[in-house]
Parts: sequence; structure tokens; C-alpha cells
Amino acid sequence: MSASGFAFETVAEDGPARAGVLTTRHGQVLTPTFMPVGTQGSVKTLTPAEVEATGARIVLANTYHLWLRPGAEIVAELGGLSAFTRWPHTTLTDSGGYQAFSLAERRTLSDDGFVFRSHLDGSKHLLTPEEAMRVQGLLGSDIAMQLDVCPPAGAPREEVEAAVEQTTRWARRSLAARRPEQAVFGIVQGGLHVDLRVRHAAELGELPFEGLAMGGFSVGEPIEEMHRVLVEVAPSLDKRRPRYLMGVGTPRDLLLAIGAGVDMFDCVLPTRNARNGQAITRSGAISIKQAQYKNDPAPIDEACGCPCCRLGYSRAYLRHLFLSGEILVLRLLTQHNLWLYGELVQKAREAILRHEFAAFARSYIEPR
Ligand SMILES: [Zn+2]
Repeated sequence: MSASGFAFETVAEDGPARAGVLTTRHGQVLTPTFMPVGTQGSVKTLTPAEVEATGARIVLANTYHLWLRPGAEIVAELGGLSAFTRWPHTTLTDSGGYQAFSLAERRTLSDDGFVFRSHLDGSKHLLTPEEAMRVQGLLGSDIAMQLDVCPPAGAPREEVEAAVEQTTRWARRSLAARRPEQAVFGIVQGGLHVDLRVRHAAELGELPFEGLAMGGFSVGEPIEEMHRVLVEVAPSLDKRRPRYLMGVGTPRDLLLAIGAGVDMFDCVLPTRNARNGQAITRSGAISIKQAQYKNDPAPIDEACGCPCCRLGYSRAYLRHLFLSGEILVLRLLTQHNLWLYGELVQKAREAILRHEFAAFARSYIEPR
């Protein structure tokens, strides 16, 4: 085992789908797995024990936000993310590049990195591949991500090609700047061009990354296009390493990607949508605000084992809480949505172990 304590083992395969075990200094993560997003070092509205109860054993934290506030040095001084946030399991940090590009003001991209101004106080920062590794090292996550260049949806092929090349140069610089106790994942770009993505996956596969991610999906392209590219590209990523699909998606997206051999996911959808009053169910999402629920005695989902459904909170009560601005409903809906995602990946894993994944995916998408 390496200094990072990182290991990945596939325990079963069912077509391209696989069930695995990922090990870090903070324990084991069964894959496929879904990572709830803890943007500011907190999965919004929930305690670590409540996050753990949804089945999650790994969470994602955003480097950009924690770098600017409270500052990576402060997190390091307080023992790193795990000690600071009291999340005892594995943590992954992103590189900060995506937020530096999408949230910050007056950002410019050069071969060295991103220059941007903080969305909080306007202060000027330079995010280079080395700086992204230094900051993630201070944050002390188990898994760090390389800084990459993610072109917008619809970018011309030349721009996507340039982003791929720059991401490879930054991949080498990231690895040269890594800390031995941290695992590092590379990021495959290439937009909707299968040939570019497959070539990039092979290039990054030559480098000593512990895992490989696919970035630049779910950036506004039609969902069928993403699915088409994903099923072709995912199996081309080195099968000995975990494959991580960044920022995706709906339960349907997850099933499709698991079927193509993806092991790890993160997405703000279940938590953010919960705070907007949306409950995700196997037969689609429902908006608890709607008038049709004003006297509905049923829980969100009779078959769900989450605290919200198990305690029998009615749709009518949840709607009342939401319209009254009560914090409780945000907690309950977040728990429900993360429970659904946790159960989805757990059941997918069990189906892969039984070699019945395709049938499971079909029954999940068209339930009962
Ligand atoms: Zn529930």
C-alpha cells in the first residue's frame, strides 16, 4: 500500500458494470458510490451522522470555497477536513478550477493557470496546478483532483482539443506537486468528441494517477448526447483504477453510467433540489409546494426507509412546513433525497454482485 493508504479493488463485474472496494486512510468505500456535496465543508442542513445514515462513506468538499473562506491554512491548523468537519470517513476535494471559472469575477486563463477575483471580496488569486495541489494538501482530503480546463458546451472542436492538451500538461504538473499522503485523480476532457476523450483517457492512463475522472459532462449539452458519449468513453478508462463521473446527475444518469463501468459520482442535485422543495422518487421528482399535496396524508414514498418517510411525515405537513419557511422540511427532504441515492448505488452494487445489473436498471427506471 502507498503512503496515501489508497487502494482499489474490483470484486465483481457484470458486463462493463463493476462492484469494488476503495480504501483510503479514512476507511473503505463500497463502489459504485455517490458522494454528497459538502460545498463549504458541510452537507447543507445535515450532521455527519445523518449523512452517514444515508449510506454515504465519502463526501466532496469544494476547494475554491474553503480556500477563500475560512482559508486552507486554518483548516490545516485545525487538523484537516476530517477533523475540522467531524466527518470521520473519506473526503474528496475538487481542484477549485470549476468554481474559479464559473463563480469568480474577471477570470482569465493562461498556460500557467486561472487568474481570478474572489466572489466574496474581490481579492486577486492565481490558481495554478501547483497551487491547487498545495491548497488541497492543506485541506487534507484523502483524494485530490488535478486542475483541468473544462470548455463550455458547444465549444468548437479546436477549443476542446486545446483544453485537452492543456489538461494533460497540468496533469503532469499536478503529479509533480503532489503530497505522498494524498491520492490524486486525473480528469479526462474532450466534450462530446468520443475520439478526443478516448485518446485523452489513454494519455492520462499512462500517468501515475490513483483514479481517473470524466469532467465536462452535464455542462448544458442535451442529455442523450451525454449518454451516447459516456457509454462509449467510460469503458476506455483504465479498468484497474476507479472511474469517477463528475457532477452527474439524476438517478437515471447514474444507472446508465454504472452500466458503462463508472464507480463514483457527485452531484448537488439531491441536496440543492431538496432545499428548493423537490423530493426525488423512483417514479420521478415531486415539488412539495404544489397545491395538490395540501391535504395529502401519504408520505413522499411508502417504500422509502428514510427518517422522513419512516416517521410518516405527510406530504401535506411537508408542504405546510415549506410554505411556512420552516428549516425542518429542508433537513427532511435532504435526508430523503440522499437516502434514495444511497439506496440506488447500494442496490446497483448488489445487482452487480448477482450479475443482474441490466434487469435491475430496467426495473428501477420503470418501477413496479
Ligand atoms: Zn424517504
